[in-house]
Amino acid sequence: MLNLVLFGPPGAGKGTQSAKLIEKYQLVHLSTGDIFRANIKGGTDLGVLAKSYIDAGKLVPDEVTIGMLAQEVNQSPNAKGFIFDGFPRTSAQAEALDVLLAEKGTGIAMMLALEVEEEELKKRLLIRGKDSGRADDQDPAIIQNRINVYNAETMPVKLFYEVQGKYYGINGIGEIESIFEALCSHIDKA
Ligand code: ADP
Repeated sequence: MLNLVLFGPPGAGKGTQSAKLIEKYQLVHLSTGDIFRANIKGGTDLGVLAKSYIDAGKLVPDEVTIGMLAQEVNQSPNAKGFIFDGFPRTSAQAEALDVLLAEKGTGIAMMLALEVEEEELKKRLLIRGKDSGRADDQDPAIIQNRINVYNAETMPVKLFYEVQGKYYGINGIGEIESIFEALCSHIDKA
């Protein structure tokens, strides 16, 4: 199996690059943000719970997110591999993911991180908010909160993979196609 973590702050381009990567490598894309939004749209209990956190720019609690992710992984028993997008976002999530994959005799091959500075992120998110209507992308205070949560809770996940020699940083500013090529060149060396 080829299991990748696509990492980076809100607005770094994870969704855009995931779409291209799954097509090229035939992987299953698991975006926790997308799954939460689908649940919100469907009015499920999980959606109702997640909405209160997402709208405030906070993380959904670990036990909820980990349980949901495990269920999604188990629903694709024949996957050639997964791209985890927006997960893990805390150290507890990273540890739980290792346990889950180890039970299946596999693990994470690498973390590919899209690096984009804060000012650029804020600009991109406000533009996305206008286009997509995503409430969490429309309010500068909520955007700032998400970036703060990223720096405090999600950045440590980088170290988790770095000490294992699995972290690869990629400049997330530039043409979509050249960023994609940079990602592929790391994957093809795996
Ligand atoms: P972005 O990368 O733009 O922040 P996402 O679609 O990945 O957008 O996530 C949207 C929101 O969903 C996050 O701000 C958070 O509230 C929630 N969320 C997504 N993934 C996780 C996760 N792994 N753990 C906790 N909350 C999450």
